[in-house]
Amino acid sequence: VVPAEVRPHAKVGLLPPYAAGKPPVAVPGLAPFKLSSNENPHAPVPAVLERIHEVVTGAPGAASPVCRYPDPLSTALRERLAAHLEVPADDVVTGAGSLGALSQLITAFAGDGGESGAPDEVVFAWRSFEAYPIVVRSAGAKDVQVPLTADHRHDLPAMLEAITDRTRVVLLCTPNNPTGPVLTTDEVEDFLGRVPPHVLVVIDEAYVEFVRHPQAVSGLDMYRRHANVVVLRTFSKAHGLANLRVGYSVSRPEITAALRTVAVPFAVSTVAEQAAIASLDHLDDVLAGVQTVVDERERVVAALAEAGWDVPETHANFVWLPLGERAAEFAAAAGEKALSVRAFAGEGVRVSIGEREANDRFLEVARAFGV
Ligand code: PMP
Repeated sequence: VVPAEVRPHAKVGLLPPYAAGKPPVAVPGLAPFKLSSNENPHAPVPAVLERIHEVVTGAPGAASPVCRYPDPLSTALRERLAAHLEVPADDVVTGAGSLGALSQLITAFAGDGGESGAPDEVVFAWRSFEAYPIVVRSAGAKDVQVPLTADHRHDLPAMLEAITDRTRVVLLCTPNNPTGPVLTTDEVEDFLGRVPPHVLVVIDEAYVEFVRHPQAVSGLDMYRRHANVVVLRTFSKAHGLANLRVGYSVSRPEITAALRTVAVPFAVSTVAEQAAIASLDHLDDVLAGVQTVVDERERVVAALAEAGWDVPETHANFVWLPLGERAAEFAAAAGEKALSVRAFAGEGVRVSIGEREANDRFLEVARAFGV
């Protein structure tokens, strides 16, 4: 029995659960599909899988490198990203997924406030990515959640008003998970022009490759123009490498120095690093796969509209059904058809765009459920 004196820090009791998307429950006669975690339904492109195999097994005649630690700085990947994004390699920091990169940021820039006696504050829209409050509260900081507008977008004026002298970081999620809309360049420029200089603004672009909105903000443009902007990106979605855990941030060297200091050492394996490089080397093939997902998204959105559903404009690889109290009921109906979707009780259901057959089945469920 663990002695009563051994107990988690009080902040642990304040963490909301992270309810990861579940796999579908088998239904006889139906192929199961997981539409609950916004993964890429396509496997990585063959050249990437070959590279993963090659890295794991080692070069011909050489030992596998798997018994050795990876490069803690992911130098090869950072240099490849620097060339690809046209940014200095020093401005890139990798992490175990963009979640790892976000965790570095919050750990380095927000905390319990020390001797001041009041915690630092991190402002973000809500509902948004459910890991945000977990990462913020784990750091001992306080999450300040600003409700989305009625049309499921960030309420930037309200977010500005929520900033205090305790605010250290603002998180912008574009496209917003789980609702789908993007922020525009004009909106974000205006916001950045009004944010006090002591606040870091993080632009989480996990789904950027799926965006087709002509006025959508580019996080990298904002980082080039504003010294307090940090961009987060990932290989989990468009690149189909969710399981390998590799993401990164882009920001000024004064910021990246702090991120490297707090980063969990060796968080990105050589396998993940080399897979990411290979994926960038085959970007045309990767983006062709992304386009098929975008085409499917447009087909799904059009079919939903035709069936009378009013869903927010989505630029990610998922759609949001604002079902309110009927969210759980919809998820159950999808489950009966061997589809796992993501219900947020009392709010709505997020459904990832999957294989064509999966999307067709989701549309059948939506039509049968009615609006
Ligand atoms: N940001 C957003 C908005 C996300 O939706 C996700 C994944 N669901 C992440 C970050 C983290 O993804 P990863 O750690 O796999 O890069």
